Amino acid sequence: MEIIHVSAECYPVAKAGGLGDVVGALPKYQNKLGHIAKVVMPMYRTKFLYENSFDVVHKGAFGLAHYWFDYTIIKERTNKLGFDLYLVDIYGILDRERIYGYDDDSLRFTAFQIAVVDWMSQWNHHPDIVHVHDHQAALIPFMMQYCYAYQNLSYIKTILTIHNAEYQGWMGWEKANYIPHWDPWKSGMLEWDNDINPLASGIKCAAKVSTVSPGYLQELMHNANGLEMLFEYERGKCFGILNGIDTDVWNPADDFFIQEDYNTENFKQKKQINKKVLCDQFNLDETKPLIIFIGRLVGEKAADLLPYVISDSIYHMEGKMNFLILGSGEWWIEDQLQHLRSHFTGYYHSQIQYNEKLSHQMYAGADFLLMPSRVEPCGLNQMYAMRYGTIPIVRRTGGLNDTVKDFGDEGGYGICFNDATVGDITHSIYRAMQLYEQRERTHEIRKQIMQIDNSWERSAKIYINLYNS
Ligand code: ADP
Repeated sequence: MEIIHVSAECYPVAKAGGLGDVVGALPKYQNKLGHIAKVVMPMYRTKFLYENSFDVVHKGAFGLAHYWFDYTIIKERTNKLGFDLYLVDIYGILDRERIYGYDDDSLRFTAFQIAVVDWMSQWNHHPDIVHVHDHQAALIPFMMQYCYAYQNLSYIKTILTIHNAEYQGWMGWEKANYIPHWDPWKSGMLEWDNDINPLASGIKCAAKVSTVSPGYLQELMHNANGLEMLFEYERGKCFGILNGIDTDVWNPADDFFIQEDYNTENFKQKKQINKKVLCDQFNLDETKPLIIFIGRLVGEKAADLLPYVISDSIYHMEGKMNFLILGSGEWWIEDQLQHLRSHFTGYYHSQIQYNEKLSHQMYAGADFLLMPSRVEPCGLNQMYAMRYGTIPIVRRTGGLNDTVKDFGDEGGYGICFNDATVGDITHSIYRAMQLYEQRERTHEIRKQIMQIDNSWERSAKIYINLYNS
């Protein structure tokens, strides 16, 4: 089977979060299963672009509103990622340093999608499946079916995977002329709540829709940032498939970012060495339990509660633990977390930045990972943490609920709580401190979680079954 993945992110080319991790791994594992999976994404000005060699495979042009865009498709030469990687270059539009966050993002990603569809419509041999990811690629199923210029693609089946339904790519109808001429009777397939809503359009037009965990799909029926009714209506074609993790990239036994590699036999000593290096770097105490948070500093992740949780925990539990935060996001949360450093020197440190290498070192060196998310479609951090023997403290929501079981329950191994409140989170930290005191139990749990199979092998097969259906 031949599959084309279309996405705004793909690790290690460009990543802002879990979407990048998934699109960087799933195609590789589908290829390992004997299928042909390829990735098409925008060409941003990232390090990967300058450090690798590419061939030009296609040049084309299209009109969008009153603009005319030339585009070029380049292909990475060595196949080093485990799949064919194609980048879409549109001069002045996509070739920027950041992935998102520009005023003209609607224009940028609509242009990207038109270029992809325009290019595919000129292939002699078409793929079996076009698998689009999130709203930045979600207009493609509509374009393939209803835009006059691309009718030769209308027979190809499309799948939309929703990594996060909070972001939908809304555009006012004044931007309708961004989309190539379409059958006007089908305008309803673009619309939700009086706007052009790319994510809603993808849900309506794709043959199948998947979310990145079964728990998240259930939640979307009640809480989907305005799309609840649509999920309810389309539930027959929606499936929840839990993300996997790329065990080649996230492997404590072979990780060039960390000080000491380790496995289930020697983790007790080696993990402590990684912890010491990390604590020395940030002026923390390696003899105390280390709790980390890694992620976007936004309300969805309940990052706004972190300053209160950290202060309360350090005061009420008499500084028995250390905290280390890595993240970036809302400026006011960043400010608060920076500010806290001067209050809790020796107990707390924060790094307000995006740093892939440091994230590996933190998963390896920490005792606990905190994820109090208000919304968590799947969550990869808890799975990475477990692979590195770091015990997750998570709110029972979405994919966190699907992947972490409380150590108080039979066979459990993590710490779970119900509400994203300072009280609930601080209480969970208290439970973590109690667990930490029981050294043997803690070691058993670390060994248990390091062996949990969250690899892509399993989920990649489920996606293939979905394509076959
Ligand atoms: P989301 O996609 O909602 O941000 P996920 O848990 O699905 O959350 O994926 C987050 C990914 O991004 C993980 O690989 C995590 O390690 C990484 N990440 C998030 N913030 C940072 C950061 N500041 N530095 C390094 N890696 C980060």
